[in-house]
Amino acid sequence: MRAGLPVPPDVTPTADPIDTADTADPGLRSDQLELIRSVKGFMPDDEGQALFGVARQAARGGLGPLLEVGTYCGKSALYLGFGAVPFRTPVFSVDHHRGSEENQAGWEHHDASLVDARSGRMDTLPVARRAVESAGLDETVVLVVGPSTVVASAWGQPLSLLFIDGGHGREVAWADYRSWTPKVAEGGYLAIHDVFPDPADGGRPPYEIFCAALESGRFREVPERSCGSLRVLRRLAAPV
Ligand code: SAH
Ligand code: MG
Repeated sequence: MRAGLPVPPDVTPTADPIDTADTADPGLRSDQLELIRSVKGFMPDDEGQALFGVARQAARGGLGPLLEVGTYCGKSALYLGFGAVPFRTPVFSVDHHRGSEENQAGWEHHDASLVDARSGRMDTLPVARRAVESAGLDETVVLVVGPSTVVASAWGQPLSLLFIDGGHGREVAWADYRSWTPKVAEGGYLAIHDVFPDPADGGRPPYEIFCAALESGRFREVPERSCGSLRVLRRLAAPV
């Protein structure tokens, strides 16, 4: 018997050129939600459930794996994993696990329990790995450890969903945008977290890259899938 939560049955992906209603979407089970709530992170329940919905829809479309930039302790990775697992679609979650600027000592989002006593540096990898294991998602959620742009430089596979929630500084956010968004498959999704149109609500870079995606003409927003600061876009087919 494998440890962790029971995994939903396999479902065959069907190519899905339009965002058709997923009438079979069972939503998250209460045991899954309870586990996710126990994982540290920065994803409110309602936005996480929206992320689960788009992950499920992307996996259902069968265009490729899902990829997240910014694992932290694995909270959003579990929403993605629970959405993708019925379709046997892998979710790659990239993080160097050293924390963003705002996670460092002295900053607002610092958590001293995530510091590696030996090195004195942040290390969220053991916590994230435990979260994936407790969810029974070892075969679905693959933790990729390293700087996001280095991973991107060697990544060839088109993505059915790219979720950007890594560093929120201007340079890092733009580097993620430039290096990862071209990898979204036509018909695939791009989700960006912490998009705040009003500067009073939060930092600019996630909003800037959201606007850049729209202005590129390669993405349109899917407002019915967006929730709060989680904004969901879909890659359009290239003009012929
Ligand atoms: N998605 C998470 C929150 C992510 S916080 C949740 O649901 O809770 C942002 C994460 O991005 C941090 O863990 C940080 O280590 C990571 N990060 C920041 N810049 C990065 C970079 N250049 N490469 C890889 N990971 C990065
Ligand atoms: Mg976030």
